[in-house]
Amino acid sequence: MATEAKVQDPGIDLGWLADKIDYRRFQECVHCGLCTASCPTYIETGNENDSPRGRIYLMRAVTDGRLGMSDEVRKHLDLCLDCRACESACPSGVQYGQLIEPFKVAMQQSATGGNRTSLLQKLILHRLFPYSGRVRAALFPARLMQKLGLMDLMDKIGLTKLLPPTVRRMQAMLPKLGATGSRLPEVLPPIGPKRARVALFLGCVADAMYPETNAATARVLQHNGCEVVIPREQACCGAIHYHSGSEAPALEFARKNIATFRPDDFDAIIVNAAGCGAMLKDYAHLLSGPEHDAAKAFVNKVRDVSEFLVQLGPIPPTNPLNTKVVYHDACHLCHAQQIRSQPRQLLQMIPGVELVPLEESEICCGAAGTYNLTQPEMSEQLGRRKMDFIEATGADVVVTGNVGCILQIARKIKERESAMTIAHPMDLLDRAYSGN
Ligand code: SF4
Ligand code: SF4
Repeated sequence: MATEAKVQDPGIDLGWLADKIDYRRFQECVHCGLCTASCPTYIETGNENDSPRGRIYLMRAVTDGRLGMSDEVRKHLDLCLDCRACESACPSGVQYGQLIEPFKVAMQQSATGGNRTSLLQKLILHRLFPYSGRVRAALFPARLMQKLGLMDLMDKIGLTKLLPPTVRRMQAMLPKLGATGSRLPEVLPPIGPKRARVALFLGCVADAMYPETNAATARVLQHNGCEVVIPREQACCGAIHYHSGSEAPALEFARKNIATFRPDDFDAIIVNAAGCGAMLKDYAHLLSGPEHDAAKAFVNKVRDVSEFLVQLGPIPPTNPLNTKVVYHDACHLCHAQQIRSQPRQLLQMIPGVELVPLEESEICCGAAGTYNLTQPEMSEQLGRRKMDFIEATGADVVVTGNVGCILQIARKIKERESAMTIAHPMDLLDRAYSGN
Protein backbone atom coordinates (compact mmCIF):
# COMPACT_ATOMS: atom_id res chain seq x y z
CA MET A 1 0.00 0.00 0.00
CA ALA A 2 1.40 3.43 -0.96
CA THR A 3 2.00 5.83 1.94
CA GLU A 4 1.66 9.59 1.56
CA ALA A 5 4.98 11.49 1.48
CA LYS A 6 5.80 13.54 4.57
CA VAL A 7 6.92 17.14 4.19
CA GLN A 8 10.61 17.75 4.85
CA ASP A 9 10.15 20.73 7.15
CA PRO A 10 6.79 20.78 9.00
CA GLY A 11 7.50 24.34 10.24
CA ILE A 12 6.04 23.55 13.66
CA ASP A 13 7.00 21.34 16.61
CA LEU A 14 5.09 18.14 15.81
CA GLY A 15 6.40 16.38 18.95
CA TRP A 16 4.96 19.12 21.18
CA LEU A 17 1.65 18.98 19.31
CA ALA A 18 1.45 15.20 19.63
CA ASP A 19 1.88 15.63 23.37
CA LYS A 20 -0.88 18.26 23.64
CA ILE A 21 -3.51 17.03 21.18
CA ASP A 22 -5.46 13.84 21.60
CA TYR A 23 -5.49 12.57 17.98
CA ARG A 24 -8.99 11.13 18.48
CA ARG A 25 -10.29 14.73 18.52
CA PHE A 26 -9.45 14.93 14.78
CA GLN A 27 -11.07 11.58 14.06
CA GLU A 28 -14.33 12.67 15.68
CA CYS A 29 -14.91 15.05 12.74
CA VAL A 30 -16.94 13.25 10.08
CA HIS A 31 -16.65 16.16 7.61
CA CYS A 32 -20.42 16.66 7.46
CA GLY A 33 -20.06 20.44 7.18
CA LEU A 34 -22.98 21.19 9.52
CA CYS A 35 -20.75 23.62 11.40
CA THR A 36 -19.84 25.86 8.48
CA ALA A 37 -22.98 28.02 8.55
CA SER A 38 -22.30 28.94 12.17
CA CYS A 39 -18.69 29.98 11.60
CA PRO A 40 -18.31 33.78 11.44
CA THR A 41 -15.16 33.71 9.29
CA TYR A 42 -16.70 31.30 6.80
CA ILE A 43 -19.86 33.43 6.67
CA GLU A 44 -17.70 36.43 5.77
CA THR A 45 -15.16 34.86 3.36
CA GLY A 46 -17.03 31.82 1.96
CA ASN A 47 -13.65 30.02 1.88
CA GLU A 48 -13.71 26.39 3.06
CA ASN A 49 -10.25 26.89 4.60
CA ASP A 50 -11.81 29.53 6.86
CA SER A 51 -14.45 27.08 8.07
CA PRO A 52 -14.19 24.70 11.07
CA ARG A 53 -14.17 21.65 8.80
CA GLY A 54 -11.45 23.17 6.61
CA ARG A 55 -9.33 24.16 9.61
CA ILE A 56 -9.65 20.70 11.17
CA TYR A 57 -8.50 19.26 7.85
CA LEU A 58 -5.51 21.63 7.74
CA MET A 59 -4.52 20.96 11.37
CA ARG A 60 -4.77 17.19 10.90
CA ALA A 61 -2.72 17.31 7.70
CA VAL A 62 -0.01 19.36 9.49
CA THR A 63 -0.08 16.99 12.48
CA ASP A 64 0.25 13.99 10.14
CA GLY A 65 3.24 15.64 8.45
CA ARG A 66 1.39 15.72 5.10
CA LEU A 67 1.33 19.52 4.99
CA GLY A 68 3.87 22.06 6.19
CA MET A 69 2.94 25.07 8.31
CA SER A 70 3.12 27.48 5.36
CA ASP A 71 2.13 31.14 5.53
CA GLU A 72 -1.11 30.21 3.76
CA VAL A 73 -2.06 27.56 6.35
CA ARG A 74 -1.07 29.91 9.14
CA LYS A 75 -3.28 32.66 7.69
CA HIS A 76 -6.41 30.47 7.76
CA LEU A 77 -5.74 29.24 11.30
CA ASP A 78 -4.83 32.72 12.58
CA LEU A 79 -8.15 34.03 11.26
CA CYS A 80 -10.06 31.65 13.54
CA LEU A 81 -11.69 33.61 16.37
CA ASP A 82 -11.69 30.62 18.73
CA CYS A 83 -15.34 31.56 19.29
CA ARG A 84 -16.32 27.85 19.40
CA ALA A 85 -19.62 28.38 17.57
CA CYS A 86 -18.64 25.26 15.65
CA GLU A 87 -18.74 23.23 18.87
CA SER A 88 -22.35 24.27 19.49
CA ALA A 89 -23.28 23.32 15.91
CA CYS A 90 -21.40 20.02 15.67
CA PRO A 91 -23.62 16.92 16.03
CA SER A 92 -20.53 14.72 16.53
CA GLY A 93 -19.36 16.63 19.59
CA VAL A 94 -16.02 17.69 18.10
CA GLN A 95 -14.12 19.66 20.73
CA TYR A 96 -12.63 22.15 18.33
CA GLY A 97 -11.17 24.37 21.07
CA GLN A 98 -8.94 21.49 22.16
CA LEU A 99 -7.46 21.43 18.66
CA ILE A 100 -7.06 25.10 17.77
CA GLU A 101 -5.82 26.29 21.16
CA PRO A 102 -2.71 24.06 21.35
CA PHE A 103 -2.19 24.71 17.65
CA LYS A 104 -2.13 28.46 18.23
CA VAL A 105 0.43 28.00 21.00
CA ALA A 106 2.63 25.90 18.70
CA MET A 107 2.18 28.38 15.85
CA GLN A 108 3.27 31.28 18.03
CA GLN A 109 6.28 29.31 19.30
CA SER A 110 7.40 28.55 15.75
CA ALA A 111 6.50 31.91 14.22
CA THR A 112 9.15 33.91 12.40
CA GLY A 113 9.30 37.39 10.81
CA GLY A 114 5.94 38.86 9.91
CA ASN A 115 4.09 35.97 11.53
CA ARG A 116 5.24 36.92 14.98
CA THR A 117 3.15 39.07 17.26
CA SER A 118 4.88 42.49 17.18
CA LEU A 119 6.94 43.55 20.15
CA LEU A 120 4.46 46.32 20.97
CA GLN A 121 1.52 43.90 20.78
CA LYS A 122 3.42 41.45 22.98
CA LEU A 123 4.18 44.14 25.53
CA ILE A 124 0.54 45.21 25.62
CA LEU A 125 -0.90 41.69 25.65
CA HIS A 126 1.54 40.07 28.04
CA ARG A 127 2.93 42.83 30.24
CA LEU A 128 0.00 45.22 30.50
CA PHE A 129 -3.44 43.62 30.04
CA PRO A 130 -3.13 40.80 32.59
CA TYR A 131 -2.42 43.24 35.43
CA SER A 132 -5.34 45.46 36.41
CA GLY A 133 -3.08 47.83 38.40
CA ARG A 134 -0.88 48.43 35.35
CA VAL A 135 -3.90 48.91 33.07
CA ARG A 136 -5.34 51.40 35.55
CA ALA A 137 -2.04 53.31 35.67
CA ALA A 138 -1.74 53.23 31.88
CA LEU A 139 -5.28 54.59 31.57
CA PHE A 140 -4.59 57.54 33.86
CA PRO A 141 -3.43 59.92 31.07
CA ALA A 142 -6.34 58.81 28.86
CA ARG A 143 -8.79 59.43 31.71
CA LEU A 144 -7.34 62.91 32.21
CA MET A 145 -7.36 63.69 28.49
CA GLN A 146 -10.98 62.56 28.18
CA LYS A 147 -11.89 64.78 31.11
CA LEU A 148 -10.20 67.80 29.55
CA GLY A 149 -11.72 67.05 26.12
CA LEU A 150 -8.24 66.56 24.63
CA MET A 151 -9.03 63.09 23.28
CA ASP A 152 -11.88 64.44 21.12
CA LEU A 153 -9.65 67.29 19.99
CA MET A 154 -6.88 64.85 18.97
CA ASP A 155 -9.47 62.89 16.98
CA LYS A 156 -10.81 66.03 15.32
CA ILE A 157 -7.45 67.38 14.18
CA GLY A 158 -6.27 63.92 13.12
CA LEU A 159 -3.46 63.60 15.67
CA THR A 160 -4.56 60.08 16.64
CA LYS A 161 -3.69 58.99 13.08
CA LEU A 162 -0.03 59.42 14.03
CA LEU A 163 -0.21 56.74 16.73
CA PRO A 164 1.11 53.21 15.98
CA PRO A 165 -1.76 51.08 14.53
CA THR A 166 -2.11 48.86 17.64
CA VAL A 167 -2.28 51.88 19.97
CA ARG A 168 -4.69 53.65 17.57
CA ARG A 169 -7.05 50.67 17.63
CA MET A 170 -6.90 50.57 21.42
CA GLN A 171 -7.55 54.31 21.63
CA ALA A 172 -10.60 53.91 19.36
CA MET A 173 -11.96 51.21 21.68
CA LEU A 174 -11.53 53.16 24.88
CA PRO A 175 -14.87 53.60 26.62
CA LYS A 176 -15.78 56.76 28.47
CA LEU A 177 -13.68 56.16 31.54
CA GLY A 178 -15.46 56.82 34.79
CA ALA A 179 -13.82 57.43 38.14
CA THR A 180 -11.44 54.63 39.15
CA GLY A 181 -13.71 53.93 42.13
CA SER A 182 -12.52 52.75 45.49
CA ARG A 183 -11.25 49.23 45.94
CA LEU A 184 -13.98 46.79 46.97
CA PRO A 185 -13.61 45.58 50.57
CA GLU A 186 -12.33 42.05 51.08
CA VAL A 187 -15.63 40.84 52.55
CA LEU A 188 -19.13 42.15 51.80
CA PRO A 189 -22.01 40.95 53.98
CA PRO A 190 -25.25 39.51 52.59
CA ILE A 191 -28.34 41.71 52.50
CA GLY A 192 -31.00 39.74 54.34
CA PRO A 193 -30.61 36.11 55.45
CA LYS A 194 -27.37 34.47 54.31
CA ARG A 195 -27.91 31.95 51.52
CA ALA A 196 -24.35 31.37 50.25
CA ARG A 197 -20.71 32.34 50.67
CA VAL A 198 -19.03 33.13 47.37
CA ALA A 199 -15.66 34.35 46.12
CA LEU A 200 -15.67 36.98 43.38
CA PHE A 201 -13.17 36.89 40.51
CA LEU A 202 -12.53 40.46 39.29
CA GLY A 203 -10.53 39.99 36.08
CA CYS A 204 -7.85 42.40 34.89
CA VAL A 205 -8.90 44.51 31.85
CA ALA A 206 -12.52 44.37 33.02
CA ASP A 207 -11.62 45.53 36.51
CA ALA A 208 -9.53 48.42 35.18
CA MET A 209 -12.03 49.59 32.53
CA TYR A 210 -15.35 48.82 34.16
CA PRO A 211 -14.80 48.63 37.95
CA GLU A 212 -18.42 49.70 38.42
CA THR A 213 -19.60 46.42 36.86
CA ASN A 214 -17.63 44.43 39.43
CA ALA A 215 -19.12 46.59 42.18
CA ALA A 216 -22.60 46.05 40.68
CA THR A 217 -22.01 42.28 40.56
CA ALA A 218 -21.01 42.24 44.22
CA ARG A 219 -24.14 44.24 45.17
CA VAL A 220 -26.42 41.95 43.16
CA LEU A 221 -24.92 38.94 44.95
CA GLN A 222 -25.41 40.69 48.30
CA HIS A 223 -29.05 41.40 47.42
CA ASN A 224 -29.40 37.67 46.78
CA GLY A 225 -28.20 36.77 50.25
CA CYS A 226 -24.54 36.11 49.46
CA GLU A 227 -21.56 36.89 51.60
CA VAL A 228 -19.05 38.03 48.97
CA VAL A 229 -15.32 37.53 49.50
CA ILE A 230 -12.80 39.17 47.15
CA PRO A 231 -9.48 37.34 47.54
CA ARG A 232 -6.70 39.91 47.32
CA GLU A 233 -4.04 37.71 45.72
CA GLN A 234 -6.13 36.73 42.71
CA ALA A 235 -4.48 36.92 39.29
CA CYS A 236 -5.50 37.24 35.65
CA CYS A 237 -7.26 34.08 34.41
CA GLY A 238 -4.44 33.55 31.88
CA ALA A 239 -6.66 33.68 28.77
CA ILE A 240 -4.76 36.56 27.17
CA HIS A 241 -1.46 34.69 27.37
CA TYR A 242 -2.91 31.33 26.48
CA HIS A 243 -4.86 32.50 23.45
CA SER A 244 -1.86 34.41 22.11
CA GLY A 245 0.31 31.31 22.30
CA SER A 246 2.16 31.88 25.58
CA GLU A 247 1.38 28.81 27.64
CA ALA A 248 3.85 28.92 30.56
CA PRO A 249 2.69 32.24 32.11
CA ALA A 250 -0.95 31.20 31.61
CA LEU A 251 -0.32 28.06 33.66
CA GLU A 252 1.38 30.13 36.37
CA PHE A 253 -1.74 32.33 36.62
CA ALA A 254 -3.87 29.17 36.86
CA ARG A 255 -1.74 27.80 39.70
CA LYS A 256 -1.90 31.12 41.53
CA ASN A 257 -5.71 31.35 41.28
CA ILE A 258 -6.21 27.75 42.40
CA ALA A 259 -4.03 28.41 45.47
CA THR A 260 -5.71 31.77 46.19
CA PHE A 261 -9.39 30.84 45.87
CA ARG A 262 -9.36 27.76 48.13
CA PRO A 263 -12.54 26.17 46.67
CA ASP A 264 -13.42 24.31 49.88
CA ASP A 265 -14.08 27.66 51.59
CA PHE A 266 -16.82 28.76 49.17
CA ASP A 267 -20.10 27.60 47.69
CA ALA A 268 -19.04 29.08 44.37
CA ILE A 269 -16.31 31.10 42.65
CA ILE A 270 -18.17 33.76 40.70
CA VAL A 271 -17.02 35.33 37.45
CA ASN A 272 -18.87 37.95 35.41
CA ALA A 273 -16.76 37.96 32.23
CA ALA A 274 -17.45 35.16 29.75
CA GLY A 275 -13.87 34.91 28.47
CA CYS A 276 -12.41 34.64 31.98
CA GLY A 277 -15.12 32.17 33.03
CA ALA A 278 -14.40 29.85 30.10
CA MET A 279 -10.69 29.96 30.90
CA LEU A 280 -11.18 29.30 34.63
CA LYS A 281 -13.42 26.35 33.77
CA ASP A 282 -10.65 24.98 31.54
CA TYR A 283 -7.95 24.79 34.24
CA ALA A 284 -8.43 21.05 34.83
CA HIS A 285 -7.79 20.46 31.16
CA LEU A 286 -4.62 22.57 31.26
CA LEU A 287 -3.07 21.14 34.41
CA SER A 288 -2.31 17.44 34.43
CA GLY A 289 -0.40 15.12 36.76
CA PRO A 290 -0.38 15.91 40.49
CA GLU A 291 -1.97 19.34 39.92
CA HIS A 292 -5.03 17.95 38.18
CA ASP A 293 -7.15 17.15 41.25
CA ALA A 294 -6.73 20.62 42.76
CA ALA A 295 -7.59 22.15 39.36
CA LYS A 296 -10.70 19.96 39.15
CA ALA A 297 -11.88 20.99 42.63
CA PHE A 298 -11.44 24.64 41.62
CA VAL A 299 -13.28 24.19 38.31
CA ASN A 300 -16.19 22.47 40.06
CA LYS A 301 -16.85 25.69 41.97
CA VAL A 302 -16.54 28.19 39.08
CA ARG A 303 -19.85 29.69 37.97
CA ASP A 304 -20.78 32.54 35.71
CA VAL A 305 -22.75 34.99 37.83
CA SER A 306 -25.97 34.46 35.83
CA GLU A 307 -25.59 30.66 36.03
CA PHE A 308 -25.07 30.90 39.79
CA LEU A 309 -28.00 33.23 40.46
CA VAL A 310 -30.43 31.07 38.50
CA GLN A 311 -29.22 27.95 40.37
CA LEU A 312 -29.57 29.78 43.69
CA GLY A 313 -33.06 31.06 42.85
CA PRO A 314 -32.83 34.80 42.18
CA ILE A 315 -34.75 37.27 44.32
CA PRO A 316 -36.79 39.45 41.91
CA PRO A 317 -35.82 43.14 41.94
CA THR A 318 -38.65 45.60 42.51
CA ASN A 319 -37.60 48.84 40.82
CA PRO A 320 -38.80 49.17 37.20
CA LEU A 321 -36.36 50.22 34.46
CA ASN A 322 -38.89 50.74 31.62
CA THR A 323 -36.54 50.08 28.75
CA LYS A 324 -36.24 47.98 25.60
CA VAL A 325 -33.29 45.62 25.85
CA VAL A 326 -31.51 43.39 23.34
CA TYR A 327 -29.15 40.65 24.51
CA HIS A 328 -26.03 39.62 22.56
CA ASP A 329 -24.64 36.16 23.42
CA ALA A 330 -20.92 36.38 24.18
CA CYS A 331 -19.24 33.40 22.48
CA HIS A 332 -17.44 32.23 25.59
CA LEU A 333 -20.73 32.22 27.47
CA CYS A 334 -23.04 30.53 24.94
CA HIS A 335 -20.59 28.27 23.08
CA ALA A 336 -17.82 27.58 25.59
CA GLN A 337 -20.07 27.41 28.69
CA GLN A 338 -23.49 26.67 27.16
CA ILE A 339 -25.06 29.53 29.11
CA ARG A 340 -27.90 31.08 27.13
CA SER A 341 -31.16 31.15 29.04
CA GLN A 342 -29.86 32.33 32.44
CA PRO A 343 -28.91 35.95 31.56
CA ARG A 344 -32.20 36.31 29.66
CA GLN A 345 -34.14 34.91 32.60
CA LEU A 346 -32.51 37.47 34.93
CA LEU A 347 -33.20 40.37 32.56
CA GLN A 348 -36.84 39.33 32.16
CA MET A 349 -37.18 39.39 35.93
CA ILE A 350 -36.66 43.16 35.94
CA PRO A 351 -39.99 45.05 35.98
CA GLY A 352 -40.44 47.21 32.88
CA VAL A 353 -37.76 45.48 30.78
CA GLU A 354 -38.88 44.46 27.31
CA LEU A 355 -36.39 41.90 25.98
CA VAL A 356 -36.38 41.80 22.17
CA PRO A 357 -34.73 39.07 20.06
CA LEU A 358 -31.49 39.64 18.14
CA GLU A 359 -30.82 38.04 14.78
CA GLU A 360 -27.50 36.12 14.68
CA SER A 361 -27.26 36.65 18.41
CA GLU A 362 -24.72 33.81 18.74
CA ILE A 363 -22.40 35.01 15.97
CA CYS A 364 -19.21 36.62 17.28
CA CYS A 365 -19.06 40.43 17.36
CA GLY A 366 -15.40 40.33 16.33
CA ALA A 367 -13.91 41.21 19.71
CA ALA A 368 -12.73 37.67 20.57
CA GLY A 369 -10.23 38.58 23.26
CA THR A 370 -7.34 40.29 21.54
CA TYR A 371 -8.52 39.40 18.01
CA ASN A 372 -9.47 43.02 17.36
CA LEU A 373 -5.80 43.92 17.78
CA THR A 374 -4.32 41.00 15.83
CA GLN A 375 -6.93 40.64 13.03
CA PRO A 376 -8.38 44.14 12.72
CA GLU A 377 -10.00 43.71 9.29
CA MET A 378 -12.11 40.65 10.10
CA SER A 379 -12.85 42.08 13.52
CA GLU A 380 -14.15 45.23 11.86
CA GLN A 381 -16.31 43.28 9.37
CA LEU A 382 -17.89 41.26 12.16
CA GLY A 383 -18.38 44.34 14.33
CA ARG A 384 -20.29 46.05 11.50
CA ARG A 385 -22.43 42.99 10.91
CA LYS A 386 -23.27 42.70 14.61
CA MET A 387 -24.12 46.37 14.93
CA ASP A 388 -26.42 46.28 11.88
CA PHE A 389 -28.50 43.57 13.54
CA ILE A 390 -28.44 45.31 16.92
CA GLU A 391 -29.60 48.62 15.43
CA ALA A 392 -32.40 46.88 13.55
CA THR A 393 -34.01 45.89 16.87
CA GLY A 394 -34.60 49.51 17.90
CA ALA A 395 -33.58 48.65 21.48
CA ASP A 396 -32.50 51.30 23.98
CA VAL A 397 -29.86 49.13 25.62
CA VAL A 398 -27.70 46.30 24.34
CA VAL A 399 -26.69 43.89 27.06
CA THR A 400 -23.89 41.33 27.00
CA GLY A 401 -21.86 39.40 29.55
CA ASN A 402 -18.30 39.94 28.42
CA VAL A 403 -16.00 42.95 28.61
CA GLY A 404 -14.50 42.33 25.14
CA CYS A 405 -17.96 42.41 23.51
CA ILE A 406 -18.87 45.50 25.54
CA LEU A 407 -15.78 47.36 24.26
CA GLN A 408 -16.34 46.27 20.65
CA ILE A 409 -20.06 47.12 20.54
CA ALA A 410 -19.54 50.37 22.48
CA ARG A 411 -17.07 51.46 19.80
CA LYS A 412 -19.63 50.74 17.09
CA ILE A 413 -22.31 52.66 19.00
CA LYS A 414 -19.92 55.62 19.23
CA GLU A 415 -18.93 55.44 15.56
CA ARG A 416 -22.58 55.44 14.47
CA GLU A 417 -23.50 58.16 16.96
CA SER A 418 -26.34 55.91 18.13
CA ALA A 419 -28.43 56.85 21.16
CA MET A 420 -28.24 53.25 22.33
CA THR A 421 -26.27 52.39 25.47
CA ILE A 422 -24.45 49.20 26.46
CA ALA A 423 -24.44 47.38 29.76
CA HIS A 424 -23.58 44.13 31.50
CA PRO A 425 -26.64 42.22 32.83
CA MET A 426 -25.36 42.92 36.37
CA ASP A 427 -25.40 46.69 35.71
CA LEU A 428 -29.12 46.55 34.92
CA LEU A 429 -29.95 44.18 37.75
CA ASP A 430 -28.06 46.36 40.21
CA ARG A 431 -30.09 49.40 39.13
CA ALA A 432 -33.28 47.38 39.50
CA TYR A 433 -32.34 46.29 43.02
CA SER A 434 -31.10 49.66 44.22
CA GLY A 435 -33.59 51.90 42.38
CA ASN A 436 -30.83 54.29 41.18
S1 SF4 B 1 -16.64 19.70 13.13
FE1 SF4 B 1 -18.55 18.55 13.46
S2 SF4 B 1 -20.10 19.65 12.22
FE2 SF4 B 1 -18.08 20.32 11.51
S3 SF4 B 1 -17.61 18.97 9.79
FE3 SF4 B 1 -16.69 18.02 11.62
S4 SF4 B 1 -18.26 16.63 12.38
FE4 SF4 B 1 -19.30 17.97 10.95
S1 SF4 C 1 -13.92 28.68 16.56
FE1 SF4 C 1 -15.33 30.14 15.54
S2 SF4 C 1 -14.10 31.08 13.90
FE2 SF4 C 1 -12.99 29.25 14.58
S3 SF4 C 1 -13.66 27.64 13.20
FE3 SF4 C 1 -15.02 27.51 14.99
S4 SF4 C 1 -16.78 28.81 14.46
FE4 SF4 C 1 -15.13 29.31 13.01
